[in-house]
Amino acid sequence: MQSVQEKPPQQSNSIPSATKTLHYLATGLMKWQEQDRKKRISIPPALRIGMSQMYLLSLVKGKKPVPHDLPEFLDLAKKPLGEWFPCKEIKYLNENATLIEDGDVSEFAQEWGVEGSNTKMEIEQKAVEEALKECREKQLHEPYRAFRRMIIEHPVISYSEYNTKLFKELRDLNKESLDKIYKDLNVLTAEEECHLCPRCGYYQRKRSDNSYRCYNDTCQELRVKQKLGEGKTIKAEGYKAVTPGVHRFVTLPGIWEIQLYEELKKLGAGITLWPNIDEYDLRVEFKSDVTWAIDVKDWCYLNEERLHKVQYIHDAKQTFVVFPDEREKDLRIKGRRRELHKELKEVRLKLMSEIIGEAQKNC
Ligand SMILES: [Zn+2]
Repeated sequence: MQSVQEKPPQQSNSIPSATKTLHYLATGLMKWQEQDRKKRISIPPALRIGMSQMYLLSLVKGKKPVPHDLPEFLDLAKKPLGEWFPCKEIKYLNENATLIEDGDVSEFAQEWGVEGSNTKMEIEQKAVEEALKECREKQLHEPYRAFRRMIIEHPVISYSEYNTKLFKELRDLNKESLDKIYKDLNVLTAEEECHLCPRCGYYQRKRSDNSYRCYNDTCQELRVKQKLGEGKTIKAEGYKAVTPGVHRFVTLPGIWEIQLYEELKKLGAGITLWPNIDEYDLRVEFKSDVTWAIDVKDWCYLNEERLHKVQYIHDAKQTFVVFPDEREKDLRIKGRRRELHKELKEVRLKLMSEIIGEAQKNC
């Protein structure tokens, strides 16, 4: 992603880029949310820049309404982008996406937050990258897998289970890096009793009407669609949980990675999760000697720039980027991939159901 400096852009008569403006707005909103509610006195620089660029953009592109101040902007942020943002200026942008969803920065906006802008979530996620680096240096293949699976399958974990893992499968990992990823649950939330999300297992946010909702919009959708009911209720004391940045950027995408892993394993193919200590997500080996390399992307918008960064894996017959079917309504891969495949050369885009179907043919 592009890096956004928090300095005001150079004065010029040029029209601001819609992409950069959206990056500024999303980053600014994340920073705004990080501030203590009672102490929200200053508008984060990124948000200020985003809003002034938004104003210019709206004037030039003729989009109404134009946000004049923060309350007006926060109000627009709850509405679909198509109503107020010049969406046509950004390829593949979903006009139905909102920056705020149910009173919280949306999954979409979190994805648009800029790398390198030091949002709290980004700093938290960095701790996992440090652990990855450590595992690569020490060539810790199995401990790395155990560590990733723990974050995905146990984003909230009791002290006793955590300690057991620490002494067993994770004993070669640096405890300090793990402590940056898992915090005491009562440090992360003021609630004494926590209601866990029935889909991802993370603690949920209490709404003003005393109901609970996952911080993640997709969980919320799937919970209704799959009739998941209520999750477990636990006492915060005695539990640890991953930080919100780790939950958002490692736990949640990981649920799809594990799901695809399990589905392909059922078919009898040889599967390796995160081969070569996370060179990519899944290596699939069929009895016919055909090998696939798969990267699972849980994106809520089609980011061409990031797509181009996916490496073709030379020792596999095919390299796939696989998206959950649930994302198709936002990404519209089926309609767009013909054009994208020309640019991506050998990398192919598939939905999870499609890749499972192809694997069945190979087995
Ligand atoms: Zn959830």
